[in-house]
Amino acid sequence: MDTGDHLVAKGRCSIPAAPWSGRGVKDREASSVSSPAGLAAPGLRWYRGDLHVHSVYSHAAELTPEQLASEARKARLDFLVTTEHNSAAAHDIWRSLSSDDLLVILGQEVTTQSGHWLALGIEPGQVVDWRYGVRDEVIEEHVDAVHRSGGVCVVAHPYASYRTGRFLYPFEDFDVLEVWNGSWKSDLPWQADNEAALRTWAQGLAAHLPLNRWRPSIGSSDTHLRGQIGSPQTVVLAEELSAAAILAGIRAGRCWIAGSAGVELAFTASATAGAAGPGERLRTDGRLVEVRAEVQGVPMGEVSLHTDRGTVHCESLDADGSGAVRWCTDANESAFVRVEVRHRDGAMAALANPVTLAGRRRT
Ligand SMILES: [Zn+2]
Ligand SMILES: [Zn+2]
Repeated sequence: MDTGDHLVAKGRCSIPAAPWSGRGVKDREASSVSSPAGLAAPGLRWYRGDLHVHSVYSHAAELTPEQLASEARKARLDFLVTTEHNSAAAHDIWRSLSSDDLLVILGQEVTTQSGHWLALGIEPGQVVDWRYGVRDEVIEEHVDAVHRSGGVCVVAHPYASYRTGRFLYPFEDFDVLEVWNGSWKSDLPWQADNEAALRTWAQGLAAHLPLNRWRPSIGSSDTHLRGQIGSPQTVVLAEELSAAAILAGIRAGRCWIAGSAGVELAFTASATAGAAGPGERLRTDGRLVEVRAEVQGVPMGEVSLHTDRGTVHCESLDADGSGAVRWCTDANESAFVRVEVRHRDGAMAALANPVTLAGRRRT
């Protein structure tokens, strides 16, 4: 379904700051993504990182922290979060590997009996208890402890297919949902359990976003083996490359997910009052909104836009993998808008957190 065309055909989209160039949605001339930042304000930058990484200090992982840091640099990551299973044994080593060009944030994967969760941004030496299941009814206190120390709590791979990996706790206490978990248990970069997590997350947006109680999505590699780090990765808008700034960006949903460093996405919604990106709220004053997604690195891919009414617009990319998709709406028609970019075979290449459209006209 493409409900954007009728808006264009009626010539309703006329936003001075970003003039509409006609019905053609894919704009080849405007397809160069000069910076994934798009509308980033002065002082803000997009940083690429992996939020879920295991070294030999975790079961079934094969790389040392030093090897992982080297691989992260080769993958052009700006940061990583070390998430060893229930252990702080490598914290000192990891801290020594943090540098100006690669920020290392301490974290933990908390592998309980009823699912796994990530504590991002914990203190050196801190170990979050993992020895419980859903029937013990203690998860809230452990999540609270991480929140008190400034950390972010992530539901990890909620539909994982292996024993104890499936997440059985309510999502309410958690800040963020890992909708895209890497391929370490599979040869496939995008799997059925990711699709299920994405569906659950997307279904919650319509109810929770207007109340500002939504949960941002992230993607991470869950690296255990060589060659996995950064696939996928989360790209975060932050004031600086520091743990506090990166975690603040994730908590606010000012981030999008890329399948690799080769995928670029700039996603914005603009109205006369200004522009907004992933995780942000756009003041529309009841006026038209132009939604724009610029993509690079996804040959023959498909870009789709989604709102509280479902999938509202789709466009294909050419063999060079770049293009700009544009679509118009308003706050009455759409409470939010978000974007997915998929490869030709349906596997995900990138997806962004939603922009909320505020300023619905009363009728
Ligand atoms: Zn896990
Ligand atoms: Zn893991």
